[in-house]
Amino acid sequence: MFCYQCEQRARGTGCEVLGVCGKKPEVADLQDLLLYSLMGLSQVVLEGIRFGMQARRYGEFVVTAAFSTSTNVDFDPQRFVDLIHQAVALRKEIRKELESSGYDLRLEEGPTTFEPAVTREELLSQAASVGLFSYPADNSDILSLKHTVLFGIKGVAAYADHARILGQEDDDVYHFIFKGLAAIQQTGLNLDDWLRLTLDCGKAAYRAMELLDAGNTETYGHPIPPKGPLGHKKGKAILDKADDIVAAVKTGRIRHFFLVAGCDGAKPGRSYYTEFVEKLPDDCIGMILSCGKHPFFDKDLGDIDGIPRLLDIGRCNDAYSAIQIALALSRALDTNVNDLPLSMILSWYEQKSLSILLALLYLGIQDIRLGPGLPAFFTPTVLNLLVEKFNIMPIKTPDEDIKEILG
Ligand code: SF4
Repeated sequence: MFCYQCEQRARGTGCEVLGVCGKKPEVADLQDLLLYSLMGLSQVVLEGIRFGMQARRYGEFVVTAAFSTSTNVDFDPQRFVDLIHQAVALRKEIRKELESSGYDLRLEEGPTTFEPAVTREELLSQAASVGLFSYPADNSDILSLKHTVLFGIKGVAAYADHARILGQEDDDVYHFIFKGLAAIQQTGLNLDDWLRLTLDCGKAAYRAMELLDAGNTETYGHPIPPKGPLGHKKGKAILDKADDIVAAVKTGRIRHFFLVAGCDGAKPGRSYYTEFVEKLPDDCIGMILSCGKHPFFDKDLGDIDGIPRLLDIGRCNDAYSAIQIALALSRALDTNVNDLPLSMILSWYEQKSLSILLALLYLGIQDIRLGPGLPAFFTPTVLNLLVEKFNIMPIKTPDEDIKEILG
């Protein structure tokens, strides 16, 4: 086994004997083989789409299967055996249908012709040659972006799968997933092409989050602040209006917003985020999001003219709402999002947070600070590319970062 898709990876490089998450080698290897099967299925689906085939049900399958390989989602080896066989059966079904309609499919030997073995032991032996480092790539930087797209797709798949359950789907999201998975097994794309695919993955993530938001609000209703007493009251609150915030920014009573968002985790370095929030100057507001907020969401930082200094935006599934708040603020203040007095301090852990990061990059957001460690699958060249294009940077210490941001 080799897996380095999440921030927990062993020794900062990757899990090779047993996952820090508890994933066993057998499961890791079957997941590799499932992904290989999905890449072959995606290549054939794209051929089918070219010939006018409806691909939604294949999209639904690929999304559910790709999501199952994300961190902590499924550790049942038999489920992966079943999914591998289903993926190949679907691939054959499409091929048969296209060929019976007179289309001449010329598929190269590889994932599109892969035949899964019958026993689990034999499947494991097949898996040995299709791991992460078997993907064709001219150099380690292209391989790095292939892994980035693959792990980003898992995050997109998580949101798309949840959205589908709530009745929201978009064939464009499925189409990107087919395209990304198919491309991983192909050669011919250069580093710029892969950077474009990485941002396309961010675009698909943004759309999948939008679908999930629509699924949630259409199923459960838009969150509406209920009527309640006005005035100050000690404790938690639901913030009811945006005008006060805009006015406070315009008059300088609010100097800066910090979106402190991302995943929780066990590493000691994550205390950075609690310390960061505690050290925010009195004229700054912390907007907090996702499970990474749990160590500090109940801190009492007081308020600025009645506006709580710690605003809880919700769960990671609400990342779309946080982006909409930033966009609304930029419209209200008539400025670009990157010129807002807003900084993003993110913690990542698994593939959903990676897909959110890619969505932010797709939207052109600059100066993101990321921690507690950077993804092990970024090579120095890929990291430099992201620094050059987006000025993304690792977190330092809360004091240094706050000082740098506020100047
Ligand atoms: S998901 Fe994370 S912790 Fe689990 S095996 Fe992969 S890198 Fe290791």
